[in-house]
Amino acid sequence: MPNSSPVSLVIIGGGASGMAAAIAARETADSLGLKRGDFSIVIVERNCRLGEKIRISGGGKCNITHEGTPADLLRQGFFTKAEERFLRSALFSFTNSDTLELLARKGLETRAREDGKVFPVDGNGPAVAEAFGSLLDDFAVRVQFSSRVKKVFHRDGQFELLFDTHGTLCSKHLVLATGGVSWPQTGTTGDGLRIARSLGHTLAASSPALAPLYLVRPPSPALAGISLRSVGLRVSSVSGEASRRGDVLFTHKGLSGPAALSLSRDAALLLSHEGKCSVVADLFPDLPVTALEGELLRQAKEKGAQMIRKFLQMCPIAPPGRFVDAAPHGTIPSALVPFIMKHSGIEADVAWSSLSKIGRKSLLRVLKNFPLGEVGRVPLEQGEVSAGGVVLREVNPKTMESRVVPGLYLCGEILDYAGEIGGFNLQAAFSTGWLAGSSAVSQLQE
Ligand SMILES: Cc1cc2nc3c(=O)[nH]c(=O)nc-3n(C[C@H](O)[C@H](O)[C@H](O)COP(=O)(O)OP(=O)(O)OC[C@H]3O[C@@H](n4cnc5c(N)ncnc54)[C@H](O)[C@@H]3O)c2cc1C
Repeated sequence: MPNSSPVSLVIIGGGASGMAAAIAARETADSLGLKRGDFSIVIVERNCRLGEKIRISGGGKCNITHEGTPADLLRQGFFTKAEERFLRSALFSFTNSDTLELLARKGLETRAREDGKVFPVDGNGPAVAEAFGSLLDDFAVRVQFSSRVKKVFHRDGQFELLFDTHGTLCSKHLVLATGGVSWPQTGTTGDGLRIARSLGHTLAASSPALAPLYLVRPPSPALAGISLRSVGLRVSSVSGEASRRGDVLFTHKGLSGPAALSLSRDAALLLSHEGKCSVVADLFPDLPVTALEGELLRQAKEKGAQMIRKFLQMCPIAPPGRFVDAAPHGTIPSALVPFIMKHSGIEADVAWSSLSKIGRKSLLRVLKNFPLGEVGRVPLEQGEVSAGGVVLREVNPKTMESRVVPGLYLCGEILDYAGEIGGFNLQAAFSTGWLAGSSAVSQLQE
């Protein structure tokens, strides 16, 4: 129940960054010799439990973080140089190992997969949120559930929080950890962004990141559920293009899978500039056009009687070199073959021996640029994260303190950064949260 008694430190938001901020604040307070009874830390959370997004992360398995040094994570995990620069101090202050060590204190075992993504060994994502909840108990952090902060006023060096029901809460220092705007059903409806703006902060418009691509003409139902492994995916419009390498999944509405999700921020940008952008797949990203043409000519010479259709059905997808060498990513899905034939203008019963030069060139073009269609929408609400938020220049990256409002700290997805798929977003939330919580307490003492 909200009340008006002053609290030493208030954190709005009980997600990844808010929970990390609270634990860091208590550790710092303990190290400074502040008695727990004299130094109260409260998380206010609108939901009735903690870490709603952690629970659904990684499809319920929670990709907690990524393997590597902080420098590796910065390089691999973030979209722009400005984000990399901004997150540097945070990721070095509280690393992926620190995250895992914290969880290990609660007996949560983790394992890195070959691709560097780190998950709980038993694949139990909600257990990560529970472990954090238990750590908050150990660290004497009070959580005020079902309390939605409506407004925050900053007067005479104090923050006053107003709730949507009744009651207020006052604190000298405040951490805003209310997340982004994707998946609003988890509690992230942009309240914190409005609060930050009302306190004087500038916002970069929210936009989708790690979201599926909805196509103007949805894929044929024959393709829905089919994956293309390790292909090249490129979005382009008149003003630019961007590409990624990875798996692509056909859905009923368009494209998903790691490569599509990763490209979504670029696709949304191109769409906003040009109103349209198209997307193509390169089924042989490791073979330049000339090398692929050489392979097709070799097939034609060695297997003249073979139907092109049959060849495609057995052909490795995204082979690292010559077709005969290996198929680490399997073969071209059979369901895709009729579409390759159709786009190439080759009849179903054509064999290599009767394929014209024009037909071969056309097949070559389609294999390197399989047309997936026009992107119609990149749904912000479906993104694993949202880009945009409080602009980074208004926050001190060494402390996460606002440069606009002294005593206000911001962390997690409320800030204008967005990470790649692979555990980078949770790690950024933990790291910025940790830095915000520890800085808030260190500076309380100054
Ligand atoms: C489907 C999905 C899958 C994902 N998978 C992964 C993954 O596997 N790995 C990864 O690294 N990242 C993943 N992410 C992203 C990751 O979950 C987020 O980036 C991260 O949780 C952000 O942490 P945060 O603390 O900034 O915000 P959040 O975790 O969103 O927490 C914000 C909290 O603030 C509360 N809040 C908001 N407004 C108010 C208010 N007015 N008053 C009180 N409380 C309020 C919210 O209820 C919420 O609990 C995924 C996201 C989604 C949606």
